[in-house]
Amino acid sequence: MIDFRSDTVTRPSLAMREVMATAPVGDDVWGDDPTVQHLEALAAEMLGTESAIYASSGTQTNLLALMAHCQRGDEYIVGQNAHTYKYEGGGAAVLGSIQPQPISNEVDGSLALENILAAIKPDDIHFAKSRLLCLENTTGGKVLTLDYLEAATKLASEHGLFNHLDGARVFNAAIKQGVNVKEIAKHFDSISICLSKGLGAPVGSVLCGSKALITEAHRLRKMLGGGMRQAGIIAAAGIYVLENNIQRLQEDHDNASLLGQELNTIPQIEVDLENLHTNMVFLKNSEGDFNALSKFLEQRDILIDARYTARLVCHLDVSREDVLTTIAAIKEFYKS
Ligand SMILES: *Cc1c(COP(=O)(O)O)cnc(C)c1O
Repeated sequence: MIDFRSDTVTRPSLAMREVMATAPVGDDVWGDDPTVQHLEALAAEMLGTESAIYASSGTQTNLLALMAHCQRGDEYIVGQNAHTYKYEGGGAAVLGSIQPQPISNEVDGSLALENILAAIKPDDIHFAKSRLLCLENTTGGKVLTLDYLEAATKLASEHGLFNHLDGARVFNAAIKQGVNVKEIAKHFDSISICLSKGLGAPVGSVLCGSKALITEAHRLRKMLGGGMRQAGIIAAAGIYVLENNIQRLQEDHDNASLLGQELNTIPQIEVDLENLHTNMVFLKNSEGDFNALSKFLEQRDILIDARYTARLVCHLDVSREDVLTTIAAIKEFYKS
């Protein structure tokens, strides 16, 4: 199978399984797991924050951040298409009593500064307290510029808001921009990173931030049922991917770029090449439906995500050869 549905579908390599099998472990709820501590220290060091906490998923690290920054009844400003708002079951509202204030994403994935400003509520008994701005980078595979990050977070800070980055794929952004990830992270009070997306770990995310924030996140993680015992087994895979799989994201970007350019030559398909920055290729056609293509490809052992829009995601289990095979198959489909 060539699986383009998501960069979450990667399987742990033998080398990764080996470090998992031999990782020193302890009870992490008691603070006894050296591998989890190593991962947390490594992530904090890489992102340039004081501290970090390991959790089971990016949904959980985002929720920990939202709940650590906001009290019950506070409000967070977020993109209409953001993962935290749209794809996390409304967790911030359900579990944190935090009111989202969604605003439209621009075509480039950003939130317009004037819209952020207009969404920040004055201090008035009628309003919820605007507490946090949440950005996502990359978002739909698109990279937010460093100038934008600076301007948006500065605007939020000037109005007394904290800044959180859903950086599930922040390393893709850093690789694309050719900068150290710290240059992105430095604008935020907290950053959530996913180890289980393009980096290729089987499980896990890390929330990075100040000591005080992470201390609060520890309490919340336990409350949410996210305290794990000998978690070093899975944290070892996280260390492995941070040490080995960041630079290679460039290959995924190159593969996605080739895929996008080639598919865009097919008359029936349109690819927004201008917004193809990293590892995701989105297809458009006049029917707005790719079910027939998806079925055709499935018969050739190629899987794509045609649930919302047609999306092909490149990752470490998709080779250049797989990309060429897929281009040929899609061209064949549109010829017939
Ligand atoms: C995948 C993802 C997350 C977290 O997802 P989990 O599946 O809970 O790890 C958060 N934000 C974005 C943008 C994501 O793509």
